[in-house]
Amino acid sequence: MEKEQFMHWLSEELPESLFSQIAAQVLFRCQHCRECCRGEGYALVDEEDIHEIARALEVSHSIAKSRFTEPDPEKNPGCRILKSYGAERSCCFLDRISSRCSIYHNRPKICRSFPMLSAEPEDGNAICLYSDCLGTASFARMILEKRGDIQVQRDMQILNEQEEMRQKLKISLCIWLRRTLGQKEDADSICRITGEQPFQKNDLERYCLAYFLMTMKTDGLKDYLESGFRD
Ligand code: SF4
Ligand code: SF4
Repeated sequence: MEKEQFMHWLSEELPESLFSQIAAQVLFRCQHCRECCRGEGYALVDEEDIHEIARALEVSHSIAKSRFTEPDPEKNPGCRILKSYGAERSCCFLDRISSRCSIYHNRPKICRSFPMLSAEPEDGNAICLYSDCLGTASFARMILEKRGDIQVQRDMQILNEQEEMRQKLKISLCIWLRRTLGQKEDADSICRITGEQPFQKNDLERYCLAYFLMTMKTDGLKDYLESGFRD
């Protein structure tokens, strides 16, 4: 793919809301409460995820598949789910003593994209607001605090007025997402095709915040903190 085609795909084919959600995921800070590693939900895995788990644990693909996964009850194509244990239905990779993920650096894509990219937001909210996720509550508080910040207002103005900065941010978000999902080669291809170096961490976070506030309604965050989040 050439740069022109890629830029067309970026601006015409991908919805703005996707970039806002990636920006939210960049800004999200997990509080390691591990609520998302147990309970009713399933950690969906595909063959690529199973391959990563097998690599991390130095077992064959078929052993990883049979030992740690089981059929997906919802029958998503090409997917299985991670096994769970106990009354709380904890993920089989949740360490019983430390309560940490024992394959954190090789965890499945769905765990890497939780919570901001894990599902379609409902009720007109900007992002999925999970009632048990401490990190989502911290995110909501941070966004509400930063809404009136002068530096953020300046950054919003820069993104509003400078098309090339918005483009650079979108390219940076695509690269960040690929790297987060462990797709390093795809990330490198985007750098090569666009000839762009992505924003470094501080600038990326700064413009993600401005972009999120520019593009998303934040009123639902207050309601979520007041009544939707179980403290
Ligand atoms: S529920 Fe949220 S804060 Fe808790 S471990 Fe999961 S992502 Fe992190
Ligand atoms: S793989 Fe790790 S991060 Fe994902 S659900 Fe299991 S314990 Fe949690």
